[in-house]
Amino acid sequence: QSYRRIHEVDGKVRAFLSLDEENAKNAAKQMDEQLQQGGERGLLFGLPAGIKDNIATEGTLTTCASQFLSNYKAIYDATVIKKLKSAQSVTVGKLNMDEFAMGGSNENSSFHPTHNPWNVEYVPGGSSGGSAAAVAAGEVYFALGSDTGGSIRQPASYCGIVGMKPTYGLVSRFGLVAFASSLDQIGPLTKNVEDAAFVLQSIAGHDPMDSTSANVEIPDYISALSGDVKGLRIAVPKEYIGKGVDPRVKESVMSALKVLEGLGATWEEVSLPHTEYAVAAYYLLASSEASSNLARFDGVRYGVRTPNANNLIELYRKSRSEGFGAEVKRRIMLGTYALSSGYYDAYYLKAQKVRTLIKQDFDQVFANYDVIIGPTAPTPAFKIGEQVDNPLTMYLNDILTIPVNLAGIPAISVPCGLVDGLPVGLQIIGKALGEATVLRTAHAFE
Ligand code: GLN
Repeated sequence: QSYRRIHEVDGKVRAFLSLDEENAKNAAKQMDEQLQQGGERGLLFGLPAGIKDNIATEGTLTTCASQFLSNYKAIYDATVIKKLKSAQSVTVGKLNMDEFAMGGSNENSSFHPTHNPWNVEYVPGGSSGGSAAAVAAGEVYFALGSDTGGSIRQPASYCGIVGMKPTYGLVSRFGLVAFASSLDQIGPLTKNVEDAAFVLQSIAGHDPMDSTSANVEIPDYISALSGDVKGLRIAVPKEYIGKGVDPRVKESVMSALKVLEGLGATWEEVSLPHTEYAVAAYYLLASSEASSNLARFDGVRYGVRTPNANNLIELYRKSRSEGFGAEVKRRIMLGTYALSSGYYDAYYLKAQKVRTLIKQDFDQVFANYDVIIGPTAPTPAFKIGEQVDNPLTMYLNDILTIPVNLAGIPAISVPCGLVDGLPVGLQIIGKALGEATVLRTAHAFE
């Protein structure tokens, strides 16, 4: 069914980079057999999933939408893939993204852009744009994405679906191609909040293969969806509904707050005073980590190797200049600069300090409130091509999602209205490991 839909619409949406029909059919057959032999149904039994192409899937292409890895087949499954398999979901294919997850529109994919199913002239968001578009277009039941600075929540917002970034460490990053290791988290993109709870339940949990994995008990997210938000204390940061936010987006958030108020929640305006420094700090830290993480792509160990090298240095240089796209190179240069001796204190160290201040802003608010609510993105989706020439405007779009990654806390985006016929997302942010409360709030609102 999933493949029928993909063949029907993916010519227009272009969410997929590769399909694995053979494997998927075999997996489905195996599952049926197990069931007939009296086996139990997994939590995601038979559900077709799409996987962002920076998550390793054994034996199949894992390209990160980069020319560098255009021929790279992963040699093992990421932990999340193993977990999906044991929950009996079936992976149907790999989804488009901005190259190495750097971007917010899918236009940085080195293969082709993905289109927003609501209007194919618009971007689906990014970097998990293929994941969001595939779910929105009904090509898969759910998808996995990764969120370093908003890459699950922002495309979910642009495509009118649900996207969740878990607490840093809740979901194993083993097998996720690293962009910025201290920020990256894998999470679900789904049609509704209940599905998000099911997928999160299946993929969360401690993993010895990831040294930053949290060794905590995983609550029952599904039974947390009680619908009850009576007495819930909501904080609305004034920085999230002020300058730079489309007034119609603000309007949708205000109506959402009324709905929650009607259900017995209360809300007040608060301040997260360091919000305006988040974008600068993030782009320094994320690029610094990226410059170090992407050093492994040397033309020797992974992916494509230049045929035109006469010596080792040339092999590195040419493989990297031919393999990486413009945005990836920009970040590697920025990161290498920020980490170089003489500049380290002024940039990297300073950004780390700002990161602490941002985290403290959240701690202070969470001392008195249960969740923080605002928009996911300042505007709805923009047209393909509209912002490609201006990376800085593109970076500024991330102002409302980035602080959450810097603080390592969980957040979800749920659809809360339409502006000019395009979806707008409501962002619900929780305390560290507060996924159950975030899901409960989102479910009650939805
Ligand atoms: N748009 C942000 C960036 O380009 C977020 C990316 C992400 O979360 N992977 O870095």
